Amino acid sequence: MDYPGNLFVVAAPSGAGKSSLVKALMELDARVQPSVSHTTRAPRGQEKHGREYFFVSQQEFDAMILGSAFVEWANVHGFRYGTSKKAIEERIAQGADVILEIDFQGALQIKKTFANAVLIFILPPSWDELRSRLERRGEDSPEAIELRLKNAELEVAQAHEFDFVIINELFERALFDLKAIVHAQRLKFSAQRRARADTFQTLHIA
Ligand code: GDP
Ligand code: ADP
Ligand code: 5GP
Repeated sequence: MDYPGNLFVVAAPSGAGKSSLVKALMELDARVQPSVSHTTRAPRGQEKHGREYFFVSQQEFDAMILGSAFVEWANVHGFRYGTSKKAIEERIAQGADVILEIDFQGALQIKKTFANAVLIFILPPSWDELRSRLERRGEDSPEAIELRLKNAELEVAQAHEFDFVIINELFERALFDLKAIVHAQRLKFSAQRRARADTFQTLHIA
């Protein structure tokens, strides 16, 4: 199905800077909207239900799986995370660009349902830097950090399945790269024909 809006899927090992980059992109570009996932993990610090995630019980998550509410879901770092169909389909059908911040298993699932989804993988510049970002963020226990670093090795091995790779060394450079990918999608022939129908008509382009 060819929707007027784009679907961007950003995956990265925890700590690579995915959330910071996506947040910065959305502050600069109001046409990019987040998809809020459901998760069975507890809220951290300032996180609010319905903003970062919908925080649900195991039973509520099971009920959503049974009701086919998810376009994808996965077990990540010991918790379950899922993207509801509703969160994306309605919005890309209305022409919004929706951005998903999900793990690589989910990203590959999304591509099966939405063949036009643009898959973007964010890499850290080195393992040492990834560790120090996780430590500096101060949100995870030392055990959780070790688990995330161990999982990170499996995750980066999947980067070749993605359409684009951004190395988040200098934040501003990485943000520039992310903006460029979003911008390029909007310049595709089908997108331009829809967005600039008047010009296409004037030029007699079918
Ligand atoms: P490249 O570095 O040879 O790939 O050339 P580019 O044309 O992609 O960019 C030239 C430089 O300008 C790069 O260092 C970019 O990071 C920087 N640059 C271009 N646009 C922006 C922007 O919007 N923000 C920031 N921070 N840097 C930018
Ligand atoms: P993720 O969402 O991928 O888990 P975050 O966006 O939470 O990652 O980033 C992890 C930590 O690294 C945060 O404390 C963030 O401020 C920091 N960070 C992100 N990008 C950079 C960068 N380019 N250089 C240095 N620190 C960064
Ligand atoms: P965190 O708990 O740090 O917010 O997220 C942990 C991991 O779960 C990250 O890799 C994040 O991308 C992933 N994640 C968040 N939401 C979803 C989702 O809806 N589906 C999938 N598959 N992964 C998700």
